[in-house]
Amino acid sequence: MFIAEVSNLHKTYNKLLHPVKALNGVFFTLEKGSTIGLVGPNGAGKSTLIKIMAGLLFPDSGYVKLRTKKPLGYVEEEPVFLDLNVYENIMYFAELHGISREKIEPLLKNFGLAEKKKEYPVNLSHGQKKRLALLRAILHQPEFLILDEPFSGLDPSMALWMRNLILSVKKRGKTICISSHILSHLMPICDRIIFMNGGKILMDYRMKNKPLFRIFYKGKIPKDIEAEEVKDDSLLIRCERERIPEIVEILVKNKVKIYEIRPEGIEEIYEKLYRGGKNE
Ligand code: ADP
Repeated sequence: MFIAEVSNLHKTYNKLLHPVKALNGVFFTLEKGSTIGLVGPNGAGKSTLIKIMAGLLFPDSGYVKLRTKKPLGYVEEEPVFLDLNVYENIMYFAELHGISREKIEPLLKNFGLAEKKKEYPVNLSHGQKKRLALLRAILHQPEFLILDEPFSGLDPSMALWMRNLILSVKKRGKTICISSHILSHLMPICDRIIFMNGGKILMDYRMKNKPLFRIFYKGKIPKDIEAEEVKDDSLLIRCERERIPEIVEILVKNKVKIYEIRPEGIEEIYEKLYRGGKNE
């Protein structure tokens, strides 16, 4: 059952003066209860995609269909707050969602904000602002939560707190979409990682997928070999380990010379996709 369908999104900024193509045909569907990570270097198009999904930006073409009963929860990369203190900021949204005052106190405590109740957001640390924004976004227990770079600028202990909080939301069966330019933050949380660059999806990787193997070869790959990727000197095959001899046999019968076979993990995929990038 899909909670979101993203179809052929295109978006160009500054069309008249200096056009920047931020999205160039993005498609995917998001299953209910899944946690998806959007990875890519700065400028890959993650925030643009997220803003379109959150309904804050219109695409030039394509569409996003959401199947949720409640409004989605959205945490922007640099949260903006009302010019009210922490407690009033949260109460404003609590009242909008019909949440009683008594429920707010324990939440503020859980989010480490109880002692900052009277403080104005401008005086909060970066981590406290991130927590306040997250609390605001999940107050009404949305079915679908979108987080734009939730780990950016957080120290390791705060990043761990954020990860555990996201995991607790995930455990309640919610669907979550998280963008990050750092793969290691997403790996422990996500069921699926979408690698983006240049406004496109480079690879859609499901954690529970069969493993990937890279085969280094010379020759002409026969058509009946189903590869994820075929390069001049290597191809990427998704299959159980037990099928490797069978695949090698087909290749050899077709006069393809095999030089090396290596399992390919998600880190290797990241390395290859963004090789030469100075993204981390
Ligand atoms: P990411 O979140 O992956 O860093 P963005 O979606 O923010 O990527 O940006 C994609 C591209 O669009 C980049 O080249 C960026 O400079 C450009 N861009 C983003 N927002 C704007 C904007 N408001 N005006 C002009 N260009 C923008």
